[in-house]
Amino acid sequence: MFQRLLIANRGEIALRVIRACRELGVESVAVYSSADRDAAYLDLADQAICIGPPSAADSYLSIKHLISAAELGNVQAIHPGYGFLSESAHFAEVCRSCNIAFVGPSEEAIRKLGDKVTARSIAQEGKVPTVPGSDGLVTDENKAVELAEKIGYPVLIKATAGGGGKGMRVARNDIALKAGLKAASQEAEKAFSNAGVYLEKYIEKARHVEVQVIADTHGNAIHLWERDCSMQRKHQKLVEESPAPALPASVRKELCAAAVRMVKTAGYYNAGTVEFLLDVRDNKFYFIEVNARIQVEHPVTELVTGVDLVKEQIRVAAGEKLELKQKNVPCNGSAIEVRINAEDPANDFRGCPGKITALRVPGGPGVRWDSHVYAGYSVPPYYDSLIGKLLVHRATREEAIATMKRALAEFHVEGVKTTIPLLREIIANETFRDGTMDTTFVERTF
Ligand code: ADP
Repeated sequence: MFQRLLIANRGEIALRVIRACRELGVESVAVYSSADRDAAYLDLADQAICIGPPSAADSYLSIKHLISAAELGNVQAIHPGYGFLSESAHFAEVCRSCNIAFVGPSEEAIRKLGDKVTARSIAQEGKVPTVPGSDGLVTDENKAVELAEKIGYPVLIKATAGGGGKGMRVARNDIALKAGLKAASQEAEKAFSNAGVYLEKYIEKARHVEVQVIADTHGNAIHLWERDCSMQRKHQKLVEESPAPALPASVRKELCAAAVRMVKTAGYYNAGTVEFLLDVRDNKFYFIEVNARIQVEHPVTELVTGVDLVKEQIRVAAGEKLELKQKNVPCNGSAIEVRINAEDPANDFRGCPGKITALRVPGGPGVRWDSHVYAGYSVPPYYDSLIGKLLVHRATREEAIATMKRALAEFHVEGVKTTIPLLREIIANETFRDGTMDTTFVERTF
């Protein structure tokens, strides 16, 4: 096991990794930009090193600064968290070339899976169902029209380097497709310096169901069941839960098995998530992408399985074999997470940075609160607006919903606007209660 580990991240996930290190007996080195200088979680690490000014490009995204901090902190490993450099193949490569273990998959796996067209072909090789669409990139608009007519409109134009919903466009006819190809490709070039786009059939009513996996460097790979993340706004997840409601047992089994095949075919190790769309009409599922990192919503899986995913990540990165066997991974009860962001619902959910002047967080049976904030903490304007993740775990989904309702009612925050009012409405909604939502539900309803 490592003696010291650096956390190349901030906020709640930095604190989450500090906690895992402490329990493993690994010393942690936190880093911070000058905007995060006063954050209290830094005191919980064994050392904290300033890595630059507020701008992420000069701090949390600066490989140079992070590697210098790693040298200074004398660490043997770096945990990248999520966001920032967590899916940078280059960062993983630099870490390893400096003899520092990267807590994540190999750079080859990150590179291959980060390209959606390549990921699609790996899925096909592993007999994992993909959405009907183009074989590879679309370069000729006439061929694209021919293909769209064959698979049937509507189609979705997607950027191969895409992320965060950028470079995606729905086309419902030939004219929209031709215009959309140009626009999506320009947007992708601008956002990702890669203009490559491809086509998928657009599944109008789909659920987002993803499977948590973990694999070691000795060829063992297991799944830790699924999460439903269909409650989204602008492709950003708001509510996540496990197990996925109203999912037939046979589909669930197939889905989880497909995720493990995907990981094995890609030669993937460490924690990851295989994302699928589930067509609500026929419960057929299709691979969409692999997230090659720990995800925001990982605690949902921790609650139902009892597995500490961050500790497992660190163990796997240290070269240990997975002790957990597939048949011993339980899925107990029902867990739900809501993401609490400092955003202004009255102003199109723009980030609402500022000082939290009062805070009372819920507790009691079945409640977990993963957060780095407290009364007096100032939410900086430079980074994402997540201030915490509220989770509940109960024996049944019905009870979990009741506990979440109660916990959200107890929540009291002053000084910044938050997503709490929207979350209260979602949790109280009948469609959510029935588990019959799809990814367009939030935007159609609220
Ligand atoms: P990104 O990497 O930009 O987040 P994804 O491929 O993960 O892109 O897709 C993000 C979201 O877009 C999905 O959760 C789903 O809501 C929607 N989506 C993606 N592909 C399709 C599709 N073929 N049909 C319908 N919706 C889709």
